[in-house]
Amino acid sequence: MYTISSMEILHVSAECYPVAKVGGLGDVVGALPKYQQQLGHVAKVVLPAYRNKFYDTHEFDVVHQAGMWLGHEWYHFNILKERQNSLEFDLYLVDIPGLLDTPGVYGYPNDTERFLAFQIAVLDWINEWNHLPDVIHCHDHHTGLIPFLLSWGYKYSRLKEVPSVLTIHNAQYQGQFGWDKLYLIPGFDLWKSGLLDWGGCINPLAAAIKCAWRVTTVSPGYLEELYTNANGLEWLISSERAKTCGIINGIDTVVWDPATDPRISNNYTPELVPEGKEVNKVKLCERFGLDASLPLISFIGRLVGDKGADLLPEIIGRSLHELPGEVNFLVLGSGDPHIEAQLKETRNYASYGFNLHIGYDEALSHQIYAGSDFLLMPSRVEPCGLNQLYALRYGTVPVVRSTGGLKDTVTDFGDAGGVGIRFIQPSVWDACTSVKRALELYHDKRRMRDVQLAGMHLDHSWTTSAAQYVDLYRSMK
Ligand code: ADP
Repeated sequence: MYTISSMEILHVSAECYPVAKVGGLGDVVGALPKYQQQLGHVAKVVLPAYRNKFYDTHEFDVVHQAGMWLGHEWYHFNILKERQNSLEFDLYLVDIPGLLDTPGVYGYPNDTERFLAFQIAVLDWINEWNHLPDVIHCHDHHTGLIPFLLSWGYKYSRLKEVPSVLTIHNAQYQGQFGWDKLYLIPGFDLWKSGLLDWGGCINPLAAAIKCAWRVTTVSPGYLEELYTNANGLEWLISSERAKTCGIINGIDTVVWDPATDPRISNNYTPELVPEGKEVNKVKLCERFGLDASLPLISFIGRLVGDKGADLLPEIIGRSLHELPGEVNFLVLGSGDPHIEAQLKETRNYASYGFNLHIGYDEALSHQIYAGSDFLLMPSRVEPCGLNQLYALRYGTVPVVRSTGGLKDTVTDFGDAGGVGIRFIQPSVWDACTSVKRALELYHDKRRMRDVQLAGMHLDHSWTTSAAQYVDLYRSMK
């Protein structure tokens, strides 16, 4: 559907589900454009052409070919367009052999060069269009130099008036690099180099906060926190307050629907809870050697301090010690090797009541949302958090530390209509107390079902948030 006021939005990102996903960024960039299309706009996504399963199993047309200097190195690049249009929006991949043709997304020693080249290729390509997009929407620091180059890059003067939006999915990661790599950035007005600087480094996230026309965070609660706690960017975000706003993430209700999800053993609707969920729980517990007659508390996510994953071994160990034979735990994640090792040790030590799967497994994550009674999120930092939204949709009660987006989306069942369990401190003590509250709720069958159903009936679809982004784009016209 095209309308007179239809806008053309170009999302630039390092991740987009199902092409490449490491965390929530992938989910958002895979879903938001679909909903913007449904609102009558033309949303396009451009990301690197990693050599992954999606690349190997889809067909592409080369729509642009060129070359670029990255410092003293010359690279050829191709812009590929997915032929089948399988994602409900136009998908473009930037193919740069020798830089972006990696199996994974991040974690390479030349990540700075890889994402710089990606951004230059995207801008060089747009510079060749015979029209201009209405907005370029950049996601996180990997695309943070685009707003700067749009405004001050000599090559891109034609694009100077194209509005740019930065969405901060996680301000902990800023992509800093040293000034010795300045020569990699295409020519710009050197008087403006201060815009690149933060803390004595070239800081792409800071540059984007300074140069983007608007800056959003993935929840209003997270924006409030960033004014006082933003990994060194507090003052900058506060001083740019006038152009900031928080828009809560939605979820893709087609991909994440217990009634139709092909990855779970038994589909169910709210009317079929708890029996419909139970079938999934039995299957999950069988696979992991757990007792399906006990409440199951799970964790899914990156095993890093921000997620409070370092607290898990003690939360689990202590709970199993204090409540023997009363509760089971299951963890899916990967990350800090030290935390992984501690979790393995806890499993060996506990010998029953706890199991884990170290690694990334999309299908298993769906099975855990469907088969668990509770999802534990002891996060220290949670810009939005999607896990709790998936849990709610699957009738799994989220047990969360009240911070950022968790605070915005999970109410405590102690309050009327509450859908989860909240605790204040990211501490073992607070989390263990919440585990006990979870067990009390679990044994009050009627109340448990009410809480599950209240969560399942919440609307966390993208419809409202996608429209908020469009209003934001319009405010820049
Ligand atoms: P993040 O900070 O990692 O982006 P979010 O809550 O925004 O956190 O998003 C996490 C997304 O990644 C969810 O879709 C979650 O199910 C998924 N995820 C995280 N770790 C794993 C894993 N080990 N296996 C499968 N999915 C995972």
